[in-house]
Amino acid sequence: MTAPLFERLRTHAADGGIDTDELSLTVTEGTYRLSVAGDEHAGLDEDELQAVLAEYPDYLEEWGFWQTRAPQAPARWAFLRWVEEADDAAPPARRRALVDGVSQTWGQLHLTVRLDEEARRTYTLRHVDDADTPDERLDAHTDPLDARWIAKHDDDGRYRPLKTAPTLQTGWHFSGLNAAAAVQTIDLFYPATIANRYREQHGDLDVTHWAETTERQTGIYAVTEELEGEAVDWVAEACCEDSQCLKRREWDEDEDRELSVPRGDGRFPCREPCSLVIAAARKWTMLEREEEQAYTLHLTPSEKEQLETLLRAVAEGTAGTVREADVREGANRYRTRFLRAKRTDQHGRLDADDE
Ligand code: SF4
Repeated sequence: MTAPLFERLRTHAADGGIDTDELSLTVTEGTYRLSVAGDEHAGLDEDELQAVLAEYPDYLEEWGFWQTRAPQAPARWAFLRWVEEADDAAPPARRRALVDGVSQTWGQLHLTVRLDEEARRTYTLRHVDDADTPDERLDAHTDPLDARWIAKHDDDGRYRPLKTAPTLQTGWHFSGLNAAAAVQTIDLFYPATIANRYREQHGDLDVTHWAETTERQTGIYAVTEELEGEAVDWVAEACCEDSQCLKRREWDEDEDRELSVPRGDGRFPCREPCSLVIAAARKWTMLEREEEQAYTLHLTPSEKEQLETLLRAVAEGTAGTVREADVREGANRYRTRFLRAKRTDQHGRLDADDE
């Protein structure tokens, strides 16, 4: 045991006592009462305390990390405990597991913590799809701020307007992060998710529903207040399902009306409609002002089916994956061009009659 660690332990014992991870220590009039790993020791002076503690190095090291070196902000502290399932194992078993490394998934992030050669915790982070990819095949990073530009574009170089969309690019890894740098990096990939998950676990998540969020909008977004009822379900179905966003939607239209759309299975909650949803809703508000009209459109059954397939393929983002040679697919480019040639005029307008 190092002298500074013992000094910190004595200071904490004198300052209200220690009671954590099967280690409890109090001091009364210069004598110590120690409970460690279920063994009780009373009436110890300083030398005796030091001698007993030397027999429990794992308990002391764990106390030193969690009480003096890990970030002390409650949400970050709890997150790091969750990563290594610290509450489920006594310090010796926990440290044995950390030698091999313990991993968790957070959105599309794969986070691993292990003890390095000097028995210090070190964190690595990569895309979950790269969990088994050797480091040398990935771009190496050590600065948490690099997460900002990695998060900006997907694997095809397209801008990602929503940080929690399931489109995080692959091909990178962070290594050698300490605990504070690990949570900072995750916060840059997925802002506020650690804090919001902690608030939720403590019954303290402040949810703002659709009606209240849109009521607050000003300027060009004020119109979103008009969108209500079933249209709000359509908004959530368009943007918030698991295929589009990794957050679990906790907001509804208002406190009295839950949306009919699944909330999602994400580990971290969404507490209010985000700016991307509000921006899209502005456009939908304008479109929903239009009156419906009836049209007569002549299609063969296969053409009707093809239009439905096209809608699905564009909505699910799979249209680009259809092979050019596969004309059996409704979203095939040549097949779609054939349909356009047959059913639209030179301006691409459908050959439909107003009723
Ligand atoms: S409002 Fe929907 S899309 Fe936006 S962050 Fe929340 S769940 Fe995701």
